[in-house]
Amino acid sequence: MDVSQSKLSRSVETVEWNPESAKQVGFGLEGSSPETVLRWGFEHFAPSIVMATGFGPEGIVLMHLVSEIRPETIVFYLDTDLLFAHTYELRDELVKRLGIRFERVHSGISLPEQAFRHGDKLWERDPDTCCQIRKVIPQRQFLAGYSAWITGIRRDQTAFRANTGLVEWDYANKMIKLNPLAAWTNDQVWEHIKTHDLPYNVLHDYGYPSIGCWTCTNPVESGQDPRSGRWGGRKTECGIHLPSIGKQ
Ligand code: SF4
Repeated sequence: MDVSQSKLSRSVETVEWNPESAKQVGFGLEGSSPETVLRWGFEHFAPSIVMATGFGPEGIVLMHLVSEIRPETIVFYLDTDLLFAHTYELRDELVKRLGIRFERVHSGISLPEQAFRHGDKLWERDPDTCCQIRKVIPQRQFLAGYSAWITGIRRDQTAFRANTGLVEWDYANKMIKLNPLAAWTNDQVWEHIKTHDLPYNVLHDYGYPSIGCWTCTNPVESGQDPRSGRWGGRKTECGIHLPSIGKQ
């Protein structure tokens, strides 16, 4: 059941955003469609709201919806210098097909510079530090200029994401975080992509359910945990979502 937009709008007009008020709005929107959650976010935060994508299937669905509801929305991606060529091709296809306004977010640290400071192939020895340098810190700096961000995370992706709210407080970035697809299943995501004939990363057809940096992404066998191909099974999160889920 979708929550009445006008009712929600009235209820949050005087709200000061903090973990509790965000949780209350998230509860109120529970059962709503992703479109309703997005409209709520745009109504309350535009133009100070951006969408994040790693070009996974959830991001494709959200970009499709965003392109129909508020096409001028900036969609940012973290360019680690280690993305698959297929990922850049998909980015360019999304510009053509959906008119997405992408913004590239980069650490400002080249791979040779990282190797000089931390040693070669840091991702093999210390993937947490590598993700901090190439993803978490650049994203934190970028988000500092906004009030809310939109992500494609879903509850059934990992144990850490099981309690994800449709709207929640991002403790790390001290801002509102919208997860419009939190309650969706993997099947719903792919049904939407197929129904609307949306482009997606061709690597998904070759056993890669979850795709990040080519250095830390492997195909998985049918029936395996879709995220087990990331970081060789050593971890399941790069760190950009963790602080939103539990209190610091
Ligand atoms: S996914 Fe791997 S290569 Fe990419 S930033 Fe994280 S550790 Fe580094």
